Amino acid sequence: MRRIWPGSILSYSQYGHLKIPKELKCKCPHCSKNAQFNLKADSHANRIGMFSKGNCSECKSLTSFVIMLSHLNEATNDEVKVYIYDHKMPFEQVENEAKIPGDLVRVYRSALNAHQLQDPFATAVLTKRVFESVMKSFLGEKAKGQALSTQVESLSKHLDLTKPLVTLSQLIRPDSHFHQILELDRDLDEDMATLMIELLDGIIEYLYILPSKIELTHDKIQQKLS
Ligand SMILES: [Zn+2]
Repeated sequence: MRRIWPGSILSYSQYGHLKIPKELKCKCPHCSKNAQFNLKADSHANRIGMFSKGNCSECKSLTSFVIMLSHLNEATNDEVKVYIYDHKMPFEQVENEAKIPGDLVRVYRSALNAHQLQDPFATAVLTKRVFESVMKSFLGEKAKGQALSTQVESLSKHLDLTKPLVTLSQLIRPDSHFHQILELDRDLDEDMATLMIELLDGIIEYLYILPSKIELTHDKIQQKLS
């Protein structure tokens, strides 16, 4: 979940003494555009918070929001806290953590910009440059003079695709502290529970979602070409 800061809230509705956000502007988790959302207040409210949904003004996708009320102190007229459900990690965050080469980041950003400016030819040119930049970052000088398809084919020899699984197996080894937590032999707090869900998100995405996503896009491209 991502916090929506008060500066991005455009209007409020009044519920008793509470001001609940009605319209806000933020990055849509579906289309990644900066869009406006009109929140429909939901009846699932309790003392901790309320759920709300809103459609993106750009791509019309429905997105969930959580409005937290539990921290509110009636006497001090606090602002409610609003969060948007966003399972996609922002590119900036991945960029810092995953050591993506600088020239790859630049050319990928240019490809995204070309697409946003609705320039399909520039998008094609830059897509090829992103492919080349990815290959260069793994293959180095060996990439030179080779066809792009040959480079992609040899990628698995230069890149350890099983590393996340090795890391996971080490984490849950029978003698590990984490294994004790899973067996309820060791205490855990809310932060550790959040990290567990984050781990599940990563593993499910890596094993199921990403491979299917690439296959699906491949099929859509083939269909469009035939
Ligand atoms: Zn959208």
